[in-house]
Amino acid sequence: NTPLHELDPAIAAALDAELERQQSTLEMIASENFAPVAVMEAQGSVATNKYAEGYPGRRYYGGCEHVDVAEQIAIDRVKELFGAEYANVQPHSGASANQAALFALAQPGDTILGLDLAHGGHLTHGMRLNFSGKQFKVVPYHVDSATGLVDMAEVEKLAKEHRPKVIIAGWSAYPRQLDFAEFRRIADEAGAYLWVDMAHFAGLVAAGLHPNPVEYADVVTSTTHKTLGGPRGGIILAKKDFAKKLNSSVFPGFQGGPLEHVIAAKAVSFKVAASEEFKERQRRTVEGARILAERLTAADAREAGVNVLSGGTDVHLILVDLRASELDGQQAEDRLHEVGITVNRNAVPNDPRPPMVTSGLRIGTPALATRGFTAEDFAEVADVIAETLKPSYDVDALKARVKALADKHPLYPGLNK
Ligand code: PLP
Repeated sequence: NTPLHELDPAIAAALDAELERQQSTLEMIASENFAPVAVMEAQGSVATNKYAEGYPGRRYYGGCEHVDVAEQIAIDRVKELFGAEYANVQPHSGASANQAALFALAQPGDTILGLDLAHGGHLTHGMRLNFSGKQFKVVPYHVDSATGLVDMAEVEKLAKEHRPKVIIAGWSAYPRQLDFAEFRRIADEAGAYLWVDMAHFAGLVAAGLHPNPVEYADVVTSTTHKTLGGPRGGIILAKKDFAKKLNSSVFPGFQGGPLEHVIAAKAVSFKVAASEEFKERQRRTVEGARILAERLTAADAREAGVNVLSGGTDVHLILVDLRASELDGQQAEDRLHEVGITVNRNAVPNDPRPPMVTSGLRIGTPALATRGFTAEDFAEVADVIAETLKPSYDVDALKARVKALADKHPLYPGLNK
């Protein structure tokens, strides 16, 4: 029972430093969040020791009576949260959930239609080097370069022309809501399954601030750690007709023993996600993103070559367009890092710069909203970002403003050793 700091000081020091980094900087990576302490407690529990291949009540190992309880609670809660007929809470990650979902709906060699990675799609939606791109025939659709919105006329045209087995709706970098009803209509006309990957916006759906794809799609996948605010992991929701296929695709198709400690933590996060406090936090998340979009489209930002793709946002992130700026995506990311704000560079559609450099930034508000940031705080963050991206900027003054914001909303007080 030797504590971590004694047993392994090197790892303990790295984790202490990571806690300090999260506390002292402003985390604005759109796919990140801060899990509640109770979620981390469940994730760090003895359930990590348990083998439980199979599903609650039908396991291939003895001694599963307690993890069965926790996993069934997770399933019941997430079905209730999203109004789903079926749920699988075992996928180890979003990519694992997507792999299991895709292989349940289609066979290698089948055609799939997904949003191009360079236009905001995810690797698992058909990227060349991913399992999805290697084993399936991929037809990518795009955003319209004038509006920045998904080109639904192109989706319909490609669906009619290629008759895909699966149409994938979902994104990793897109600031607007998708028209699920239109995707459903197109899928029905083409005889395709509709799979929605709501990894990014699941928290907004749970809070009723975003249309619920479960009402339209055959299968919906998600991560549990982005806007949903839980432990790192994946889930699959579906109509009950797909239950058998999806269960066997996850196990034994792609996974062995489920991570019952993570599943227990997922259950806790679903309880949190059903609360009023969570809804209020998601409202601040979306409001914060709108405030950022307004500030970064103001006259002085435009003068510095900064703009926002699609002109605004409906969700928890904005995409900053730096094509007219003297800064590329890498330089802008580095500058913000220098003042204590963490974001990631991101390609804009038809980006003139290479993927490792890019001409854009993806900036998200979920983690700061979890920290308690209000509209007033987000206005100050937005101003700091706008000032940092100008040709000349005062590093020390901006660092001090970041520190004041971080100090105003302490993160994980009491966790420091
Ligand atoms: N799906 C979408 C839309 C994502 O944005 C991501 C992660 O960024 C994933 C799936 C994959 O999740 P994970 O990183 O847990 O594999």
